Amino acid sequence: MLYMPIWKEVPLLIRMEAVSKIYKTGGTPALSDLDLQIGRGEFVFLVGPSGAGKTTLIKLISREEMPTSGRIDFLERDTAAYREPELLRHRRRMGLVFQDYRLLKSKTIYENVAMALEVIGRPSREIRELVPSALERVGLLEKENSFPSELSGGEQQRAGIARAIVRKPLLILADEPTGNVDRKTARGLMDLFETINSDGTTVIVATHAWDLVDRLQKRVITLEKGRITGDEQQGSYDHVH
Ligand code: ADP
Repeated sequence: MLYMPIWKEVPLLIRMEAVSKIYKTGGTPALSDLDLQIGRGEFVFLVGPSGAGKTTLIKLISREEMPTSGRIDFLERDTAAYREPELLRHRRRMGLVFQDYRLLKSKTIYENVAMALEVIGRPSREIRELVPSALERVGLLEKENSFPSELSGGEQQRAGIARAIVRKPLLILADEPTGNVDRKTARGLMDLFETINSDGTTVIVATHAWDLVDRLQKRVITLEKGRITGDEQQGSYDHVH
């Protein structure tokens, strides 16, 4: 029988076993021999200096990249065994948030969020329901007809978060989501991630914003040179900044 510590009552979302990623044959590993478990509903900060492997870890979870060795299970299924339909389903189950927002400049905020549903063929009736509700959740409903250039950085990132949550994903993966905004705005964005998490969505945030990490008192996984050097529940961002 599989050993499960009693405090891990939540079902596992991600399990990594001996995962390594080497981009170029013979090169230094971006990730080395990683073992990691993330349960459903967790809020996890990924911290560590630039080049530590945070983005690589996120790309392995979204399956944008494949590990060079080791195994990654998602909901107890080996992600390497996915065929095309499962891969699509895997991607639909996660919402990605980027440092540079990646909004389409020629489309309104409403259209940007709607696109996340259009590309997966959701019916327009559903789109008309889900988009305003996602925009309301991030506090951006009154800006739905604005273009990205008419919004502040913080608002653009809220639109990015609305686009990520509109499909009601199992998991939000955010890579330096507050990298382009000031501290106060960053705090608001982190609070928004916390709200989304409190509704049951698993959230993984890679960040350098140590003051915000300390403030939220969540699980903190520290990466250094492709290895996990810290994994604390209600942790703080200590020796790496
Ligand atoms: P972080 O997000 O913590 O800054 P990354 O995952 O981006 O770290 O990078 C980890 C290491 O992998 C770095 O040494 C980086 O140069 C290397 N790396 C990342 N992406 C690629 C790639 N596509 N090709 C080659 N090397 C890469």
